[in-house]
Amino acid sequence: MSNIFPRHSHHARKLPPTAPTRELCSGPTIVVPPAAFMASTIADTLAIARAHADHTIDSDSSDTESDTSTKSVVPTYAFAFDIDGVLIKGGQVIPEAKKAMRILNGENEDGIKVPYIFLTNGGGRTEEERCKILSAQLGIPVSPGQFICGHTPMREMAASYGTVLVVGGEGEKCRTVAEGYGFRDVITPGDIMRWKSNVTPFRKLTEDEFLNSRERDFSQVDIEAIFVFADSRHWGDDSQIIMDLLMSVNGRMGTLSTTFEEGPPIYFSHNDVVWATDFDLNRLGMGALRIMIEALYKARTGKTLNTATSFGKPQMGTFRYATKVLEQWRRDVFGENGPPQTVYFVGDTPESDIRGTNEFDKQVDEEWCSILVKTGVWQPGSEPAYKPKVTVDTVLDAIKWGMDRSRTAALKEMQELNSGSAE
Ligand SMILES: [Mg+2]
Repeated sequence: MSNIFPRHSHHARKLPPTAPTRELCSGPTIVVPPAAFMASTIADTLAIARAHADHTIDSDSSDTESDTSTKSVVPTYAFAFDIDGVLIKGGQVIPEAKKAMRILNGENEDGIKVPYIFLTNGGGRTEEERCKILSAQLGIPVSPGQFICGHTPMREMAASYGTVLVVGGEGEKCRTVAEGYGFRDVITPGDIMRWKSNVTPFRKLTEDEFLNSRERDFSQVDIEAIFVFADSRHWGDDSQIIMDLLMSVNGRMGTLSTTFEEGPPIYFSHNDVVWATDFDLNRLGMGALRIMIEALYKARTGKTLNTATSFGKPQMGTFRYATKVLEQWRRDVFGENGPPQTVYFVGDTPESDIRGTNEFDKQVDEEWCSILVKTGVWQPGSEPAYKPKVTVDTVLDAIKWGMDRSRTAALKEMQELNSGSAE
């Protein structure tokens, strides 16, 4: 999977043209659930598919143990959801979200079950932990296999670096996430503040923070990369330490480069400048921290920071990875090759959700269809910076719109085939 995400460039890698894999001549596929395809199997089978996708690099192999009799019931479309501002707001579930999930899980007039995944820029917990919370909030089973978050791609980089600084999130959670990803030597700003409290003159560690931090002599440690896993809880102190390292010689605290070209690279798990909570106005997010760090770097060194990289939406790697998961799921469950014909992406942030979906749609054969909801960052009255295919009130309207659209398209295709064969 190392081919999916760029290592040192924040520009999305140009993707190779995707070979057409859908057999258009086989006619419309009617979406009817196979008997064994229960609601919970969406979570279970996507978990397995995700594991397969993680271990398959652009494989063309179509080996599968799936029953070929299920071939006629392959869903032709899928949904991908942003979470904050779409399903959850201010920690509370958006009421329409529960109903939307029930409909996708088969409570609809056709009794069909539609696959879905979650693609969030948020993070700060392990994927497993976040899924447990989401399951409880939405009242449906959610597996980590359905869940791709901002820092998921950082997993790819664990082997590339030795000692890394991990910034953001509550307490020690992001250290746990990073170690779970396989990073070998993870330090936090707290470790550095424990080493020398005068690194951050305006804040002292609490007793808990001190005890959780690890004792170490940072005059002897080279920090090879900085990873902002989740939103910083202490912008001032985190920024101080990030700046110290960016301006250092080889990421060693207390050193100052003369060229300012010797510091470690910095990675952000996403680039959203604002996000929606239950407060009236949008709040500053990780993208804002990046803007601030870049401005500080420029002010202090006179140079442009060119070693910063952001993952998450709207980066193409995130969408490419989501496609692989959905593709593998279709292969595992239905023995079908290729991604769904249409993926409806439901999001609330034009700059990441809509922009990424529209750009990815242009790059691939299948359709990625952007749906903007009014429950989050974007509010009616302003023109969205990136135009969605459609704007609806809530996630419930979004899934109804997508399901109707795909149903109508399938019926039309069938009618055309029938009238064609009658001639
Ligand atoms: Mg959002």
